[in-house]
Amino acid sequence: MSRILRFITVCLLLTVALATHAKGVRVDSLRYWTAPDHTRMVFDVTTPAAHQVFLLDNPARLVIDFKQAKLLKALPQPPKNHTLFSKVRSGIRNKKDLRVVVDLKAGVTPKSFALQPSKGYGHRLVVDLYNKNKVKKTIVKKEKVAKASKVVRKTVKNKARDIVIAIDAGHGGEDPGAHGPRGTQEKKVVFAIAKKLATLINKKPGMKAVMVRKGDYYIKLRKRMEIARAANADLFVSIHADAFKNSKVKGASVFTLSNRGASSEAARWLAKNENAADLVGGVTLTDKDDVLATVLMDLSQTATKEASRNVAGKILKNFKSIGHLHSNNVQKAGFMVLKSPDIPSILVETAFISNPSEERKLKSRKHQLKMAKAIYKGIVKYFNQYAPADTYIALNASKKHTISRGETLSGIAHHYGVTMRLIKSVNKLASNQVRIGQVLEIPRG
Ligand SMILES: [Zn+2]
Repeated sequence: MSRILRFITVCLLLTVALATHAKGVRVDSLRYWTAPDHTRMVFDVTTPAAHQVFLLDNPARLVIDFKQAKLLKALPQPPKNHTLFSKVRSGIRNKKDLRVVVDLKAGVTPKSFALQPSKGYGHRLVVDLYNKNKVKKTIVKKEKVAKASKVVRKTVKNKARDIVIAIDAGHGGEDPGAHGPRGTQEKKVVFAIAKKLATLINKKPGMKAVMVRKGDYYIKLRKRMEIARAANADLFVSIHADAFKNSKVKGASVFTLSNRGASSEAARWLAKNENAADLVGGVTLTDKDDVLATVLMDLSQTATKEASRNVAGKILKNFKSIGHLHSNNVQKAGFMVLKSPDIPSILVETAFISNPSEERKLKSRKHQLKMAKAIYKGIVKYFNQYAPADTYIALNASKKHTISRGETLSGIAHHYGVTMRLIKSVNKLASNQVRIGQVLEIPRG
C-alpha cells in the first residue's frame, strides 16, 4: 500500500470513528414506576450514556444532562396528579448535549445508575427519586406506632392478635420477570394471584394479609424481607411463575430454603449460582433464576425451616388437586449465605409461563383464583394446626373432650356453654348417645 493510500485509509477510519462518536446517544423513551416512597424514571438509551443528575432551586427542579445525546421523540409526561413532579421538558445544549428538566412538587433525593440490556430491554439510565417528606413521615409514623403499641401492650394484655401473612408478588416495575410465548409478563399475573390470595386471607377472621408490593414497581429483595418483618409477619409467601427454554415443561413447584444441599438439578444449579446472583439496582442482569436464588438466599433459616416445609407441603398437595405438578416434593435449594432466621418463608412457582397452555391459565381469572385458593387452603390448614398461642385463631380453636364415666351430651354442652345440636353437627353424631373414651370436638359457642 502506498503511503498516500495509507494516509487516506487512516483519515477515512478516523472519520468513521468520529462520526460514530458524534452520533452519540439517542434517548428513545421514558417510563415512570411509582412506589410509595420513590419514583423510578427509566430512560431507554441506545448506548450507555454519560450523564449528570442534579437539583436546582426556585422553582425546584431536577436536571438530567446527557452528553452527546439527542431525543428520538418527545418524552412522555408523568401521570397527572403525580405527587413528585408536574412536568418534564427537554432541550439541546451546546448544540450537542441533551438536557431534561423535571419540575418538582416535593423535595427529592435523586440517585442514578445505568442498566445493562436484559429481558427485552436495551441499555437504560435509571433515575430514582426518593420523596424526602415521605421518608421523614414514615420515620415519625414508625416511632408513633412503636410508642402506641407499647401502651396497648400494657393496657390490653393478651388481646388475641391476627396471624399476618406477607404476600410477595415477584418482580415489578422495570423488572417484568419471565414472559410467556404470547408476551404475558410474570409480574402482572403473579400480582393478580397475590391480590386474590390477600382477599381470601382478609376475609378469614383472625388472619391479615400484607401485600409486600402494592403496585407495579420494583422492590429490592432485601427490602421485601424488611417489609414482612416490619409487619410482624408469621409467614412470607413469594409468588412467581417459572420459565424454561423447553416450552413443554410445566407445573407448579414450591420452594423452601435448605443449607444442606439441593434436592433437584435446578435447585443445585441455583445453589451453585448463588454467588453469581448479581443485582444492579434491583434488576438482574442475567437469568430470572438468579432472582429466585437471591430470594431464597434471603428466606428464613433453621428455626423456621420446619414450619416452611410443613406449609409448603400442604400448598403443594392443593396444587396437585388443581392440575399438574412440576415436582411432587417440596423443592429445596442450598446456599452458603443465609440470613433472617425469624419468618417461615416459601416461594411458590405457580406454573410455567413459558408453556403456552399454562400461560393461558395464568392469565385466566378463574384459574388465578384456583391458584390463590390452593395457597390459601394450605396456609389455613397449617395455622389451624400451628397457630401461635397469642393469636385469635389459637384462642378460638375448638377443644377436644374425652368422655369419662357418667358424662352425658347435655352435661358436656352445658359445661362448655354450647348447644348440643352444635356438638352433634360438628362431630356428625346421629343421636345423643356417647360412650366412654370417645373424643368429641367442642366448637366455640
Ligand atoms: Zn419470578
